[in-house]
Amino acid sequence: MITTIKDLRRWSRQQHDSQKQIALVPTMGALHDGHLSLVKTANQYSDTVLVSIFVNPIQFGVNEDFHQYPRSLENDLRLLQTVGSPEVFAPDVAEMYSAGFDVSVHVGGVSQPFEGKIRPTHFDGVATVVLKLFLASGADIAFFGQKDFQQVCVVRKMVTDLNVPVEIVVCPIIREPDGLAMSSRNRYLSKTQRSQAIVLSQSLMLAEKMITCDNIRDAETVREKIRSKIETAPDMKIDYIAIADPKTLHELTTINSDAIILLAAKIGTTRLIDNLLITTTMS
Ligand code: AMP
Repeated sequence: MITTIKDLRRWSRQQHDSQKQIALVPTMGALHDGHLSLVKTANQYSDTVLVSIFVNPIQFGVNEDFHQYPRSLENDLRLLQTVGSPEVFAPDVAEMYSAGFDVSVHVGGVSQPFEGKIRPTHFDGVATVVLKLFLASGADIAFFGQKDFQQVCVVRKMVTDLNVPVEIVVCPIIREPDGLAMSSRNRYLSKTQRSQAIVLSQSLMLAEKMITCDNIRDAETVREKIRSKIETAPDMKIDYIAIADPKTLHELTTINSDAIILLAAKIGTTRLIDNLLITTTMS
């Protein structure tokens, strides 16, 4: 395991000197099958996979769960042995943010709506740490989950506008058997909250059926259906339900082309997100 940027750079140079492509999977640890699926996909692209495990303080708001966020490094390392034992970079906070650190990468446009409205400093923190990880690791290709759809949009925009030479690959959402999108935060849920949480994925499936089978194109009608399904869970508090253009994240009033449905809701103190890409060609 590598813990310093200096050692990471040395490792990266060695890989590139032996003509290897570095495939990076950035994570905050507390790994689950969603993260492992990213590693498995990365294994298909390169023999040299690097998983970063770093709970990034600057992407958490002041009242968010940075201190409570689950940390389970030993178990994470064990899980990674089941998917080819990639190299691991697990720095501490002081290694990533030395005293006086005072730079922030701000992406406009796609970082503004939805998560950006509710968590105004979140994507600056994400873009900053991802760029630092790209630079320190010399990654050639990096793997992200569609689970954090807006994050992917932000990272892609940063890579494009700053000409960062890293290819971005997006991997599908891995779900529990009942449909709940896997998340490190799911372990916060009580039994009753866990049983209510499935309304999120169920509401997305209902919406997909409305759009693709029943040919309903009015976004507000679809949003209302999603809302009423989520509201069947008494403890679920909706942050937003959005139907947007998957490239620009501009909200749609009529669903005439590809669309992304994005949801965020809180149950107790746990915030859950989910999304569904609608790609059926519309007539
Ligand atoms: P995190 O540790 O939550 O920052 O996530 C690290 C990476 O794993 C991000 O690219 C996430 O989008 C991805 N990820 C998290 N949950 C899932 C999931 N259920 N399916 C696929 N990818 C996921």
